[in-house]
Amino acid sequence: MAEQSGGVLVVGEVDNAGALRPISFEMVGAGRPLADALGQKLAVLLMGSNIGDAARSLGAAGADRLLVADDERLRDLTSEAATAVLTQVIRDVDPAVVLMPGTTAGRDYAPRVAARLGVGLAADCVELAIEDGGLVAVRPILGGRVQTAVRMPGSRPQMATVHPGSFEKATGDRTAPEAEAVPVELHEAELRVRVQETVQGGGGSADLESAEVVIGGGRGLKEPESFGLVEELAAALGGVVGATRAVTDAGWRPHHEQIGQTGRTVTPRLYMAVGVSGAVQHLVGIQGSDYIVAINRDPDAPIFKIASFGIVGDLFEVVPALTAELKAAQG
Ligand SMILES: Cc1cc2nc3c(=O)[nH]c(=O)nc-3n(C[C@H](O)[C@H](O)[C@H](O)COP(=O)(O)OP(=O)(O)OC[C@H]3O[C@@H](n4cnc5c(N)ncnc54)[C@H](O)[C@@H]3O)c2cc1C
Repeated sequence: MAEQSGGVLVVGEVDNAGALRPISFEMVGAGRPLADALGQKLAVLLMGSNIGDAARSLGAAGADRLLVADDERLRDLTSEAATAVLTQVIRDVDPAVVLMPGTTAGRDYAPRVAARLGVGLAADCVELAIEDGGLVAVRPILGGRVQTAVRMPGSRPQMATVHPGSFEKATGDRTAPEAEAVPVELHEAELRVRVQETVQGGGGSADLESAEVVIGGGRGLKEPESFGLVEELAAALGGVVGATRAVTDAGWRPHHEQIGQTGRTVTPRLYMAVGVSGAVQHLVGIQGSDYIVAINRDPDAPIFKIASFGIVGDLFEVVPALTAELKAAQG
């Protein structure tokens, strides 16, 4: 496998059915300019079970090398297994830069890999560039109020996780490079954690990260019962419901629906913010949306600064009217 060293290695992600997660295309989109700036190759690694088709689709988006760790034991990718496989691949390929997804899984295994290799890690990066031959990784600090540029001179590889929704998804449709099988060697200690059962959360929120339409409800809804308005709007648009932390902390909605810095990151075509003020910690979770529509009665609410369209009004009037119009238009 290690016929050449150097370059940029990005790690894609599949679900346990072997389907690509959208972050995978962002990983290629983030890595490609870095490889080009270094004048080196972009290698893509996918780990999972029965992932041949997924790997080819991802490779066709713009990879120069396609590394595939396809093994039944990687179906429910545990942190231990991902750490072992990725560490070995990095030792074999010897890349200059490694990018991992800043997803729940990536956030778990990335620091373990960094620790095993004895190198640093810039977490949750929103911009990446090559300067003077080295990686410059920009990441938010102080609750998103400040961005800091991290350099790791002398470190090989230079490693970062990518904040979902921060990079353009690669859309190329080239011929995928031939897949290179990665030997999967796992010791007993790396198989201690076994997934017995996967249970989906209720309310369709399991789809939040890949949803095309997300309706986010905030404290402006006043009480949990008002979320019925948000659910009806979501149903009319074929979308799913999310919430702010003010709402989940109050127990109005389950925590797994929380969007933002300490919640999930969404990248839908349309995000509608209903009674959401637009605190910076919420905005980092929605900034990758194609369109943001805000409904808020306060014309000075910060959400309007990043909204593509804004409706200043009482949500208890606007939302039912909008839902009724949508239903009427759909017959
Ligand atoms: C370390 C840290 C991490 C955090 N992480 C997150 C996170 O992951 N996600 C997150 O969301 N927050 C997070 N927060 C909290 C964040 O700072 C805000 O407090 C929170 O996002 C506010 O939620 P909200 O917009 O629902 O409520 P509010 O800020 O109270 O806003 C309610 C909005 O509703 C509007 N409104 C009221 N009534 C109506 C009406 N009838 N019609 C129309 N509009 C109306 C108001 O004008 C207001 O703008 C975090 C905070 C910290 C310190």
